[in-house]
Amino acid sequence: MPQTGDRSDLEVRLRRIDGRGYRAYREIEGSWLLARDLLLHVDHVQGDPFAAPSRLRLEVPQSRARFPEALFTHRERRRGLEDFVGRVAAAAAGRNRCGRGSGRSGQVEVDRGGQEILHRSTVTIDGSRVELRLTAGLPAAGRRVMGRQAAEMLLEDLPRLAGHCLVYGELDRRRAEAHCRAAEDQHALRGQLERLGLVAFAADGALLPRRSGVDDRPLGKGAVPLHSPKRLRVEVELPNAGRISGMGIPAGVTLIVGGGFHGKSTLLKALERSVYDHVPGDGRHLCATVPSTVKVRAEDGRHIAGVDISPFIGRLPGGRGTGAFCTDNASGSTSQAANIIEALEMGSRLLLLDEDTCATNFMIRDERMQALVAREKEPITPFLDKVRLLYEELGVSTILVMGGSGDYFEAADLVLMMDEYVPRDVTAEARAVAERFGRRRRPEADSGFGTLTPRRPDDKSFDASRGRRTVKIDVKGLRTVRYGTTHIDLSGLEQLVDVAQTRTLGRIIHLYESRYCGRGKHLRDELEALFADLEREGFDLVAPRLEGGLALPRIQEVAMAINRMRSLKVLPPP
Ligand code: ADP
Ligand code: MG
Repeated sequence: MPQTGDRSDLEVRLRRIDGRGYRAYREIEGSWLLARDLLLHVDHVQGDPFAAPSRLRLEVPQSRARFPEALFTHRERRRGLEDFVGRVAAAAAGRNRCGRGSGRSGQVEVDRGGQEILHRSTVTIDGSRVELRLTAGLPAAGRRVMGRQAAEMLLEDLPRLAGHCLVYGELDRRRAEAHCRAAEDQHALRGQLERLGLVAFAADGALLPRRSGVDDRPLGKGAVPLHSPKRLRVEVELPNAGRISGMGIPAGVTLIVGGGFHGKSTLLKALERSVYDHVPGDGRHLCATVPSTVKVRAEDGRHIAGVDISPFIGRLPGGRGTGAFCTDNASGSTSQAANIIEALEMGSRLLLLDEDTCATNFMIRDERMQALVAREKEPITPFLDKVRLLYEELGVSTILVMGGSGDYFEAADLVLMMDEYVPRDVTAEARAVAERFGRRRRPEADSGFGTLTPRRPDDKSFDASRGRRTVKIDVKGLRTVRYGTTHIDLSGLEQLVDVAQTRTLGRIIHLYESRYCGRGKHLRDELEALFADLEREGFDLVAPRLEGGLALPRIQEVAMAINRMRSLKVLPPP
């Protein structure tokens, strides 16, 4: 590792630039041996105190860090360990917050993460070293270098931070191990679902409700723990937690019914988030859904590029076909149809729908409406008439919250009733009701689910640079990516959970634009090739500048983001 100098060299340099213009900080870019076992890399120095902060890395050799091999040689435990160390570092950096000068200067920041254990770029642990990536606002008075304060920050605060979190002996061992075990168990649990014929599992005792719509931590007092109905009770064996029991939701069509406020949406939301692993104590840390699960909703106003929505929506007024449907302003029903078809295009095995966020005319068409509006005058075949075909022909399961229409009873393999937050199996009762009332509405699907037409994106759709020299890819909060001169609206992506994922998403799309798109392949094949390379070559494929604060999104969210780009065009089918 080439070094620019040691601790006293850095000190000398900081003294030399004290009081000079901010740009003089450039002179400390490089690698500094702060102590025998601590290397500081100053990878990028910000242009001025108000710009994005400088990027640094702290590195401790494993000979000093002494993390147990069992925790970092196993892929999932390592993910847990890295996530844990990042959290400890973020907390320590937060405690150390003291403003030292103007702008954002004087602050050290480490990405913290929310309730999910994700694959993150902030901490890397392997046989040779432990590395922490952070940002720092280098101290400034106005636009002048504050050399003494910078020396405090780099030569005292950072070594203290490294001592707190990059040396295993200093960590809370019990919590570190629990974090690793949780990641390993949840991954194993998700991996067992298919063999068990399940699409989802929620452990007995799980706590599903959250504190609020903006606080994802578990609801404290008054939360009713999950208790599985007997017929759905399944036992699974996990590597660390051992044998646990819980509610297994089998593949097929599942309906969640029940009165308002009885916990239907809360259950569905927990299932939707259980594509991710949760931190110990989260309450959902022994829940899992199949990895490709997609929450589908209506999303009017979105852009749609050449999606074959004909399985749901036939000829539009004026004879317009829907085999390669394009619009800049989708309606509730067309957006929901496109969202489903696009999820299928990416190979999703489980769709989640909540009536709260569905388009009614997409979901149902009752007997009275059938009597008044002729079939020929209605382009929409409601989801009700396709949901079984989706499972029987394509093997795609659905879990649907539906408190407002009993028309779905016939279509369901399982009907779960939420009753004061407790799920009850009411399948038999629902069947009896369906029989008693008889079937008066006519099924409207004429011949099978319909055709799926995979798309090939046109590489001319993407140009993050738009003729500029530097490409700007950025985020504005969790659900907006700024991509070159355009914005991608991700407000419909309910399973995007961490802004660190959003940051990575923008970069993945850029990588896709420059290396994978335009080879004449289907979107799914191109993205799978990209993800395989990410898996093999590691995160730095999208973080060539060695940034922390990135977390891997799922391939599903990447496809969803591309699908929502207003510039997206697809090639005509060959
Ligand atoms: P529904 O979709 O059936 O109308 P929600 O899932 O929106 O109901 O839940 C209504 C309220 O009940 C929410 O405030 C939620 O936090 C709370 N809640 C849900 N499940 C539980 C539970 N297991 N224990 C305590 N409160 C819960
Ligand atoms: Mg609800």
